[in-house]
Amino acid sequence: MDSVQFEELSLSLLSYKTGWIKTGRWNQSEVFKLVNGDHDPDYLLVPTCEEEITQYAKQALDSYKQLPLRLYQIKEKFRNEKRPRGGLLRGKEFLMKDGYSFDLDEERALETYKSVVGAYHRIFDDLGVPYVKAQADSGDIGGDMSHEWHYLNATGEDAVFSCDSCGHVSNQEKTLSLPQEAVSAGGDVSVKYFLTMDKTTLVCAYYPTGRTLEPKFVQVEVPDIALGVPEEHVFEQFSQVDELSKRVVRVMDARLNSRSNFPDFPVDFHNRSMITTLTDVPIVLAEAGEVCGECERGTLREQRAIEVGHTFYLGDKYSKPLGLSVDVPENGKVVNKQVMMGCYGIGVSRIVAAIAEISRDNEGLRWPRSIAPWEVTVVEATKDTGLSEAYSRMQFDYRVDGRDESLGLKVKQSNMMGIPMVVILGKRFPMVDIEVRGRRRDGQPQESKLHVHIDDLSDTVNNLLIHM
Ligand SMILES: [Zn+2]
Repeated sequence: MDSVQFEELSLSLLSYKTGWIKTGRWNQSEVFKLVNGDHDPDYLLVPTCEEEITQYAKQALDSYKQLPLRLYQIKEKFRNEKRPRGGLLRGKEFLMKDGYSFDLDEERALETYKSVVGAYHRIFDDLGVPYVKAQADSGDIGGDMSHEWHYLNATGEDAVFSCDSCGHVSNQEKTLSLPQEAVSAGGDVSVKYFLTMDKTTLVCAYYPTGRTLEPKFVQVEVPDIALGVPEEHVFEQFSQVDELSKRVVRVMDARLNSRSNFPDFPVDFHNRSMITTLTDVPIVLAEAGEVCGECERGTLREQRAIEVGHTFYLGDKYSKPLGLSVDVPENGKVVNKQVMMGCYGIGVSRIVAAIAEISRDNEGLRWPRSIAPWEVTVVEATKDTGLSEAYSRMQFDYRVDGRDESLGLKVKQSNMMGIPMVVILGKRFPMVDIEVRGRRRDGQPQESKLHVHIDDLSDTVNNLLIHM
């Protein structure tokens, strides 16, 4: 984060309710609120800090010339998880790196977004565990500027879809798919009804019974659709529209055809010229084996994944309700503009649990060098007088296991803790032994035991560590 000009700060773990009421998030579920005696709660324990940091930026910004503002912290967050599991994998308290950016306009905010994506690639490359960057839903912001960062693992709770032809990777809510082959038999059809924002158009979304409709996919076809209106209100509001203004749009999922069993039309509507029908549109959640909706060629593969990071272009989602704007001179006038934001999370404690899960083997943990508690365990099995000089020349991060235990036990326990290497200072000193834990990062098997002269120890260890 420092490399892309983010500055570290530390926000309070407590956040006052005002900002959360303004953004409509005070009453969201899974928030810990603090009860103060008999009073209604005024504070919550932060699950994330958009409200807090936007209000901070509001106080800190005196002029548009101070933009961009880029801030991050690594601090505890709290979420009242209904299903905590796997220790650090999903807990009610967790450690998160959360970053926030503030820019003058969308163009600059998207540049910031791209630079953070670059930094995330370097972070995850450095961790040395294979990862995928999946296109994710950007909620009510729209656009494609939201990505989830995942470790693929069978124990993961998320699903990501990847195309074997164009390489597109996305989470399930963002994966467009087409049927594997034309469905010949007529299957049962389900329907969900929506209204447009101006309430004049009834949108009927038809999809195969048994599949899951994704309303956001319908919104791609009918952008001014109002999501979240209960179906009984849809018909009530539509019935109040003047007959001549009424329109109907029928959206047919790509898996349907003329032989499908369509339900009866729910309202009297005889003006056929006001009915538009869109066919061959993917509006249900993808299933493995279907055709990729991006390239319309490749086959989709589904894999389980553990989400460990999320990057998000926010636009004015928070700056608008919280009133974060700046005066900008433009063509001799002063224009007041909302500040454009992005937010960027990494689940620090979750990554520890995920890497432990993914990298362990039957000997125990196996940490990549970047997060191993030490790079090397040093074990002494000699009283040679040259030892103290040998230590002074060790140019790597090591611990000495000086316990009165057997050599074999010390090596075994170092391996169990996941330390990448053990260096044994034994009877043949100044010749020393190096035992390497686990596999190389590039997948090539690692020679597990080496025998080198003490003069070559640091170079040898550091060369080995590059791949771990
Ligand atoms: Zn594709």
